[in-house]
Amino acid sequence: MYRELSVKTRLREECVPITALVQGVVKEEGIRDGWCVVYVPHTTAGITIQENADPDVIEDLMAGLDRMVPQNALYQHEEGNSPAHIKASLLGSSVTVFIEEGKLLLGTWQGIFFCEFDGPRHRRVWVKVSGIK
Ligand code: ZN
Repeated sequence: MYRELSVKTRLREECVPITALVQGVVKEEGIRDGWCVVYVPHTTAGITIQENADPDVIEDLMAGLDRMVPQNALYQHEEGNSPAHIKASLLGSSVTVFIEEGKLLLGTWQGIFFCEFDGPRHRRVWVKVSGIK
């Protein structure tokens, strides 16, 4: 079984911290030793693990992606949101985190971020927790 989380984005592009939401699923599932896969079932949103201490890091990440993937380049896709698709692919659609003593095992400065590139929308995040209770 997997669990579905809802993420409501408010801007065309933004990164939403979801570590606490994912930790909540781990707690509810009661897994003490295992791993957790966090998956984004969308083609214009991605997921990443990045610094959650200084918000400028996420700002710089989004600005860096903008420089790599310009909005006004020539694209074939008629929907007009190719930059969002490309940015989603660059970040990827899942992350895996170990679980130790019932807690997500993240580095001191790390957090999990849902990254919207074609919002605002209601989005879904699927979480699958496996391991020993
Ligand atoms: Zn599209």
